[in-house]
Formats: sequence, structure tokens, C-alpha cells
Amino acid sequence: MTTTLEVAHESSATLNPVTAMLPEQPEGLLLVLAQRVRDSVCAADQNLGHLEEELLRGGHEVFRQMLEKAAQQKADAAPPLCPHCQNKLSRLSAGHWTTLQTRFGSIRVQRVRGYCRRCRKWRFAADAVLGLPEEGTQSPAVQEMAALTVSKMPATEAEQVVERLAGVKISAATLGRAARQQGQRAQRQREQLDQKMSTPEGRAQQDRDLQLQLPLEPFTLVIELDAWNIRERDDWGRSDTLRAQGQEPSRWHWAYGGTCFRLDHRGQSAGGRPVILSRGYVMTRGGVDALKEQLWAQAMRHGLGRANEVLIVADGAVWIWNLAGDRFPGARQRVDFYHVSQHLWAVAHTLHAQDDTAARAWVEPLLAKLKADKGCEVITELEQLQARLEGARAVAVQKEVSYLQSHRERMDYGRARPKGEPLGSGAMESTCRQYQCRFKRTGQFWSQTGDEALLCLETFRRNGRWTLLFPHAQALAPSKN
Ligand SMILES: [Zn+2]
Repeated sequence: MTTTLEVAHESSATLNPVTAMLPEQPEGLLLVLAQRVRDSVCAADQNLGHLEEELLRGGHEVFRQMLEKAAQQKADAAPPLCPHCQNKLSRLSAGHWTTLQTRFGSIRVQRVRGYCRRCRKWRFAADAVLGLPEEGTQSPAVQEMAALTVSKMPATEAEQVVERLAGVKISAATLGRAARQQGQRAQRQREQLDQKMSTPEGRAQQDRDLQLQLPLEPFTLVIELDAWNIRERDDWGRSDTLRAQGQEPSRWHWAYGGTCFRLDHRGQSAGGRPVILSRGYVMTRGGVDALKEQLWAQAMRHGLGRANEVLIVADGAVWIWNLAGDRFPGARQRVDFYHVSQHLWAVAHTLHAQDDTAARAWVEPLLAKLKADKGCEVITELEQLQARLEGARAVAVQKEVSYLQSHRERMDYGRARPKGEPLGSGAMESTCRQYQCRFKRTGQFWSQTGDEALLCLETFRRNGRWTLLFPHAQALAPSKN
């Protein structure tokens, strides 16, 4: 629904409201710009790139002035309501100037200030129509640029990229702060959306919002889980204290992730590579319980409860199978084929430490048996083998036998291929690697609040929710990677 603001302007009888948006002396500005373009055309050593640059830089002043006028008109038309709770503001006073950072440079806008009795705070009524965060001076486009770049690269690099691509200088500190604010906003929205998933109305609403059309035919919902670690500096400056208490300060913490998708929702890329068309992601520093609740909500969004089968695929980590049994009872469980094969290879190398060819000759028939759903035969063979060994070799093989026994029911690889199901959790592992590219750079440290905010921002984008944060970015299609 679009509502219209009552935009007033002085001397409306004489001034055309559209031409009123033009900058002062538009012809002068455009002439200067045209002259620069002309100079660039004449310069033998300049190419199309130089022309693009001239127009981007030169156009900024035209757009900046137009934006300033338009922003002022919007601010003037804002009803005197609290931008946070919609309560009527009292003790209004006009003429409060502020400088805003926009994608065309700084603009100055006057706002009306009033007191909100409900929030017990002074508020600017125009902040809602301008899309400004509380006490923030970055325009929505700048907020988005910060969110998009800082969730991909360190803020110092983001500063350079923003300056090159957008032609606007915003400091690394401002970008970092703005990105964290947006991440925290994304976290609050995620919590609300996840809560809504426990009510039928909330679910129906999100189905419509995401345009998730659930198929009439029975489908399988696949859930993959994995974790990676992140370096934080929560205990910085406390290392000596902690050591004195007998604790080694811990800098590495787990980030937990999950993804879910419908099996029938996989297509092929132009090159024939299988791709997943619709997929939900979770990534959190908030611990296994946070992952559990977020993943459940995400799985509900993608058809849990309506799927006739749920398949969970992951490596052998104990927390994963505890979570799976707890939150997704009845789901079929599959341990990642590659991880299991690594355990068989470990036995092969124990038996044939110096001989790769012999190790391969030993392991390959067993891998073939695994793929043919004969995991039990593999375990029996290893048990018989282990009984014939002694000492360290017996111990080493026993360890692998125990691993396989504990996953006996999760090695149903024979049914994977005919049904088009994944043998392993490679999709989630590659997602984790993508997150790590950003969050695990050399010499980088994070704080828990900072990294959770940025993780949430990146996950919002992957889940096609970017426009919930930045409604102006409708053109940015949700990521399909
Ligand atoms: Zn209020």
C-alpha cells in the first residue's frame, strides 16, 4: 500500500512543484559538466572510463542539490509523530539543522523536534520518512553501502571500495559503525520473524512474503549443518587475570551454521551443474541453542511440517545429532560420506603406512560397499580385522570401528543417488568457507556482538531479506548461491 504525504510548498500558485526540485542554476551546473565531458573527449589519453568518471563525479553536485531540496520537502511534510512508537509528539520546535551523509555527499536538512512521552525521549518526526536510524546521520543508501561492503570485507577496504564505486568518501570508522547498527537491526527483525513462525498466521504471512509456493506432490526437505571457529577478543586485556585464575584465555569460538532446501527445488545451471533454487541459511555465534531455534524457523519457512520426509546431513559431530534428535525428531539422519571415507582411509594408512597403492587397493572395495548401502558389512570386516591386530594398530583401528558403529544407522548412501539426495554436507561446508573468507582473515579479531551482527547481515542477504532492511533496494535480487 502506498500512502501519500501532504507535501506543501510555498508559493505553490506560482512555482511548478517539479521544477522546484531542480538545483540552483541547473544550466550552469550542467554546462560545467558538459565542458568537462567535452575536455575528456578531446584528451587523446582518456577513454570511456574517464568519461564515466567525469559524469559520476560531476553529476554528484546536481543530484546532491536535488536530494537536499527533496529531503527538506519530505521532512517538512512529516506528521508530528514519534518515529519509533507513532505517539503524538509534544513541545514541538522547528528549525533543527542536521547534516546527513548521502550517496551524493553531505546535505543539510531542518527537522522539527518534539518530545515523546511514551519513549520519554526527544524525537525528530522526520526521521521515519527520511529512513534515519535513531541519532544516525547516514542516509538509507549509505547505511546499505556500509552493510553490503563491511559484511564482505574489513572496513578499511570498504572505505576504498565505496569511494571508488560510489564516488563518496565515508570513513572506515563510520562504515564499521553503520554496518554494526544495521546488523543489530537485522538481528531484531530476525527474532521477530522467527517468533512469528510459531503461529499459523505468521507462517502464512511469511509464505506470501517469500513467495514460497509449496508443491502439492510430496517432497523431501534437506537440512545440512556444520560449524567453524572464529577469533574474538572478548578477553583482551584480561589474559593475565584469567591465567592467574588458572584459565587459559580462549580466543577461538564456534560459529554454527545450517542450511535447508527442498530436494525438488534443485535445478541445473546453464553449464549443467546442479544448483539449489531456494534455500534458507542460518549462521550464528549464539551457540547451539540459538542455531537450533533459528534453523527450526528457517526449516518451517521452507516446508518443514509439510514435507513428507526430512533428511539431515552432517559430519560426525555429537552436538549435531543431539540437535537433530531434539528439534527434528523423525528426520532421517545421514553422516557425510566424505567424513566416513576419511575414517576408512585412516585404517588403510594404519595397515599400509608406507604403501599408498596398497592402502588404496584395500580401501576402494570398502568405499564401494558403503555406497551400495552395505555399511554393516564394512563394520563387520573391520571388527574381524581389528581382532587380528595387536598393540597400537589394534587401538587405532578400534577407534575407527567405534566411529562407524556410532553412525551405523546414518550410512544409507545407496538410496541417495537414485533419489537425487546429497551424499554429504558439502553445500553447508562450502557456505561456511564463504563466511570464513570474511570472518577469518589473518590478524583479525572480533567481538561477539560485532560478529553476530555482521553474520546476521550476511545471512539476511542470502535469505533474500535484504529489502526488509533496505526497502529502496528492491532491484537487488536475493542471492541464489
Ligand atoms: Zn515514542
